[in-house]
Amino acid sequence: MSIEVRNISKSFGSFRALDNVSLHVEQGELVSLLGPSGSGKTTLLRIIAGLETPDPSQASAVIFDGENLTTLSAKDRGVGFVFQHYALFRHMSVFENIAFGLRVRPKATRPSDDVIKAKVMELLRLIQLENLAERFPSQLSGGQRQRVALARALAIEPRILLLDEPFGALDAKVRQGLRRWLRRLHSEITVTTVLVTHDQDEALEVSDRIVVMNHGKIEQMGTPEEVFHKPANEFVMDFLGQVNLFHARVEGQSRKLMVRPFDLDIVTTKSSDSAVPAKITRINAAGSAVKVELTSEAGDAILVEIPHDKHRGLNLKVGDAVFVSPRESKVFFEDYAI
Ligand code: ADP
Ligand code: MG
Repeated sequence: MSIEVRNISKSFGSFRALDNVSLHVEQGELVSLLGPSGSGKTTLLRIIAGLETPDPSQASAVIFDGENLTTLSAKDRGVGFVFQHYALFRHMSVFENIAFGLRVRPKATRPSDDVIKAKVMELLRLIQLENLAERFPSQLSGGQRQRVALARALAIEPRILLLDEPFGALDAKVRQGLRRWLRRLHSEITVTTVLVTHDQDEALEVSDRIVVMNHGKIEQMGTPEEVFHKPANEFVMDFLGQVNLFHARVEGQSRKLMVRPFDLDIVTTKSSDSAVPAKITRINAAGSAVKVELTSEAGDAILVEIPHDKHRGLNLKVGDAVFVSPRESKVFFEDYAI
């Protein structure tokens, strides 16, 4: 099922939470809405779900597979929803929690007990909790509870899965595991999925495409590689990872140079005109790359990431005077007024 969102705005009083947003999600895609807190992600997701109505406009529409659903209620849209704090029914076992959406169907469309059992067991296999069917939510870890919440949303065979920071309340290690798990699950079931997150690493790892949002508007839409390596603007570059900002004169014009820490190099002799003299203030070798903090002559703080073997070769020490040199191809320029 594809999703098309057309010219959607949403105001709360005089505050505009969404400002003329349009986007398209292909059948089977996993698309993330990524942006800082308050950027309108949840509001957009709730409008797709039918839990919130957009501002009235001739041009606006929410379309599933060519069918305009703008006036259809949430329960008729066939969406599965998982929130950050998804309250499972405490007095029901894992099995019954997952079965719930099928059990409450009107008699005419309710599956038989055998069919429900087979369906729930299949979902338990999918979330890798086959052995915990009889447990109660209080006997599960946070990560296990969110997997049950996902199975519960999937039980009704939703046309679309909407996830609002589903791992937001869990600690970093569990989140990482669940991200990979979600990606594998999605490739197995390929239900069209929209995931809301403020965590750029999560979005970069799990998404087919990322929609970067800020102040109720879309800043950029693209694959993880595109938004990371070809950011449309300063906001996207800054939001998707650490960035160094330099002010410089390039070909007579004032420019802002934005360079990621791993797109900078450290050299001990001035290799080119663009090499900036700087003094090392801190070296942190914990992690997959060595993080070297420096201060330029102009007083700018600079962060450079270099591979461990390069660091060993250079034999860098705090206090060393070196040169920082950008790898030309990856520099992001921005004109600015002075
Ligand atoms: P996000 O999910 O990106 O953090 P939200 O969509 O929840 O952002 O909210 C976007 C903005 O709209 C926020 O400033 C929020 O305070 C405001 N907002 C959201 N829902 C309501 C509401 N029901 N009433 C008033 N303001 C709201
Ligand atoms: Mg939100």
